Amino acid sequence: MDLGLSGRVAVVTGGSSGIGLATAQVLLAEGADVALCGRSPERLSAAGRELADKHGNERVLATRCDVLSADDCKELAAAVSRWRGRCDLLVNNAGQARMSTFAETTDAAWTEELNLKFFSQIFPIRAFRALLEASDAPAIVGVNSLLAYQPEPHMVCTSAARAGVQNLLKSLAGELAPKIRVNSIVLGLVDSGQWRRRYESLGLSMSRADWLASVAKEKGIPLGRLGEPVEAARAIAFLGSPAASYVTGAQLEISGGVSRFI
Ligand code: NDP
Repeated sequence: MDLGLSGRVAVVTGGSSGIGLATAQVLLAEGADVALCGRSPERLSAAGRELADKHGNERVLATRCDVLSADDCKELAAAVSRWRGRCDLLVNNAGQARMSTFAETTDAAWTEELNLKFFSQIFPIRAFRALLEASDAPAIVGVNSLLAYQPEPHMVCTSAARAGVQNLLKSLAGELAPKIRVNSIVLGLVDSGQWRRRYESLGLSMSRADWLASVAKEKGIPLGRLGEPVEAARAIAFLGSPAASYVTGAQLEISGGVSRFI
């Protein structure tokens, strides 16, 4: 199937690592030009170089942007406009999880987490809306978590924030229709930078592969393993592509079957 991404322009927030980097790879392989952003200049330029080496320097734009800054997001949109004069797909992927029970979560942590989850969607969407509206097949894909539907007791505040984001994206699918399609992926556990950092922080004697296998077993993932970033990336590319032209307000679960609801 041709996704119809050739010659299109995509923006991937948090494109310097994990799922965002894999998404940039998949989109480039499908023929789209890709702008990516992140906060750490080192991580960003390493990712930009990796992508440019494989797909050509002229097809990649790596720009520093903190998605929690409205001004940074506006500057990113201006940079993409100068670069290609268009944007067909916005992938709102930047972010990270917070582990804490209700008792452990301070007011400041609640504010920080709600701010991250909501404004990492709101600021980029506001900044790119005009460019997206000028496209003949514009789409937004939000990267979210299964925690939105299936909260975990050790991730109370992240789970609540993610449920709100699903609600927000559903509203936007209505408000931005019929011009812009808005969809999301809801992830289970995907072996990315977050999981590498978690493994390193535990200082375990077992190998990372053994630890990931034990996590998959403990979580009861029917497919028996964590997902790979590229497995999330392929779903993002489909939802964001003209091939999904009649899909909006939908969520696609990428979880190895770990959800317990129908
Ligand atoms: P990684 O840590 O590998 O990648 C996160 C990316 O987001 C990095 O490029 C990071 O770069 C960037 N980022 C974080 N905060 C900001 C910010 N404020 N502004 C701009 N860029 C930012 O993690 P994943 O690939 O796993 O995460 C991708 C998304 O998937 C996240 O939103 C995460 O919450 C979500 N997710 C992941 C799951 C998993 O199991 N992996 C499960 C459920 C959801 P830098 O730090 O340099 O800014």
